[in-house]
This record gives sequence, C-alpha cells and structure tokens, in this order.
Amino acid sequence: MSDSAEQLNLFDIRTEFPQPAPDRIHAVELKAIEIANSFGVQVRCIRWKNNRRVMASVGKNGYLNLNVIYQRAKENDLRALAIVLAGKARKQDQKRFQKFIEDHLPRELGVGKSRLIILPPDGLFHDLNKALETVLPLLDKPLYPMPQVGWSPVRVGRRGITWGTHRDTLEGPLILINAVLDAVKVPNCVVEHIVWHEICHQAVPPVPNGNGRRRVHSAEFRKLETKYPRLKEAEKWEEGNIAYLIRQHYRRRR
Ligand SMILES: [Zn+2]
Repeated sequence: MSDSAEQLNLFDIRTEFPQPAPDRIHAVELKAIEIANSFGVQVRCIRWKNNRRVMASVGKNGYLNLNVIYQRAKENDLRALAIVLAGKARKQDQKRFQKFIEDHLPRELGVGKSRLIILPPDGLFHDLNKALETVLPLLDKPLYPMPQVGWSPVRVGRRGITWGTHRDTLEGPLILINAVLDAVKVPNCVVEHIVWHEICHQAVPPVPNGNGRRRVHSAEFRKLETKYPRLKEAEKWEEGNIAYLIRQHYRRRR
C-alpha cells in the first residue's frame, strides 16, 4: 500500500461510528438503484466503499460503487448523485452533491497523537446542533467564540466512557461527543446534557487550586451545570446505562 493510501485509510467509518440498521441500508440501496436507472444510469447492485477516494463511480456489470457515507443519504441526495452520474448536472445539483460529501465525510484535524477524527453534527439519531440550540439560551451571556460541535469515534474504556470533550483548536473551540451516544435508545436529554456540560467548561474555565492542579468541576461550574432543567433525568440514565454500554461494546468486538 502506498503512503498516501495508508493515510486515507487511517480510520474505518464502519467500526468507529455507529452504523445505520441493515434494513435502512437496504432501503437506500433500492432507492439508489431505482433513481439511477430513472436517469438512464444502468445499475443493478451497490458496492460499498470505505475510503476517502471513492465517493461514487459506476463500475462494470451494473455495479455502483458508493462511499459508505451514502448509507446516510436522503432521497434528494441520491437524486443529485444520479444526475451527476448521468452527466446531466446543473450547478445546483453539483452543489447539492458536493455539500452532501462535505457534510458527511469525517474530517481530520491535527496530526499524530493530537489527531482528531470528527463526524459532522447531524448524526443517525441525534443532531448535535439541535442540542446546542436547546441549551445555549441557558447561559446568561452569549458564548464567544462559538464552539463547533461534532461526533468523535466510538470510544469505550473497560472502566468508563468519556461522554464528551471540550478543547481549543486552531479553528477555535471544539466540542466532541462520543458517537456511542448517537443511538436510538439514548434519550435527547442525555445528548443535551453532555453538550451543555462541555459548554459549561468553556463558560467556567478551570481554576488553579494552589497545589499545581486545576479544579475542572468547580462549585461555580456545578452551579451553572444545574441550570439544565433535565439534569437529574439525564444523569440517572447515564449512571444506569454505562455498565450496559461497556458490556455491549466489548461483546460486539469479541
Ligand atoms: Zn467535565
């Protein structure tokens, strides 16, 4: 494998991020085939590609190679794709086609140990921007600079799960939420709570406590955090489900 090819395959969107259910993927396949054929692109089968090089290409024998990000596509996205493949794209189709890729392809930030992989906020089951919009009014004064939000790959430790992080990057503050929470059984209040918790970290920065350490969750921080009205409900779910999520994760990997 060449160097650049390895670079392109450093992460696996299929193992590091939640996958759509098989029936949802199957429905996308059928729809993609139907729409492609309606635009005169002869397709009878979809072959999923998991890299950064192939977004969409028509192969031999009626195969349509599609990047796995298309498993999250909506009908309009498949239409734009078919029009592009048919060579009939006008400016707006081309734009929609490109925007879908920009919005869905994981982004990489930084290099080496500090390298981050970020999946856009609009997840399979939860939209982090919506969660952000819900909790921001809880602040007394507007947050500046506004943080970006995104999903980080599923990371589950044997003894615990880091639900979210807040950090400063060259592009400004960044809140990443563990994609283990982008699941149907996770209530909205949990996602909102974790986003809010990370917002609180930006609003109440850590304070030095005199012995060279920093108090991250100070009394002031805790006071602000309790402004989220469904805090108790969210914390109860988190405590009650963490062991289950860890068990599930390691069972699946065995
Ligand atoms: Zn914290």
